[in-house]
Amino acid sequence: MELTADHIKTWMKKADKKFQDKKEYLTELDQAVGDGDHGVNMARGFSEVIKKIDQDYETPSDVLKDVAMTLMSKVGGAAGPLYGTAFLKLSTQVKGKDVIDFSNFVESLNAGVEGIKQRGKAESGEKTLLDVWVPLTESLKEQSDFDSQSLKDISESLMNKTKDIKATKGRASYLGDRSIGHLDPGSVSSFYLFEALAETIEGGQ
Ligand code: ADP
Ligand code: MG
Repeated sequence: MELTADHIKTWMKKADKKFQDKKEYLTELDQAVGDGDHGVNMARGFSEVIKKIDQDYETPSDVLKDVAMTLMSKVGGAAGPLYGTAFLKLSTQVKGKDVIDFSNFVESLNAGVEGIKQRGKAESGEKTLLDVWVPLTESLKEQSDFDSQSLKDISESLMNKTKDIKATKGRASYLGDRSIGHLDPGSVSSFYLFEALAETIEGGQ
């Protein structure tokens, strides 16, 4: 399986649907450990994304670039620039390719992780979306092809593990020990993003 520009568009449409459906839930999660805007940020950002990418594209990189630019300009808070940077790195990493094969995908995810780390001045273990992105990328490096079930299962279990982490980055870090016991909102939105990708892969072609 290889990802085409159309697959990226499908991925984004599926992600948008999830973020609209889960807007309230993401808001509640961010009310517990932050300022309560994560649901609105993701829902608004992705509705802008799907409006923007409703056009023909030559390569996956071109779609990913428009996704990145839209998230950076339309999403407030920490999440917009972080997801925007991640998608920009994905775009750059696969520039010029007609399709993204699995090893290209893992390389681009790795570049995305580096971008988030730089932008957020963060590492994994700090109760941020990096606690999904970093170990997921490491797991995928051990795999040889797209596997939608594994992508879902790994990202879901990483999301759940953020409950036990004490936040040392982002707004949740103001809570100190009281951040323990809550899911990290950005890790939950990252799970939806990777779940949407898994469903796109299940769609095949
Ligand atoms: P804000 O924190 O500005 O209100 P959001 O609520 O949209 O922005 O996003 C919060 C999420 O962003 C957190 O749950 C966390 O996953 C992620 N995050 C916050 N700060 C950082 C950071 N410095 N590095 C990486 N991720 C971060
Ligand atoms: Mg917030």
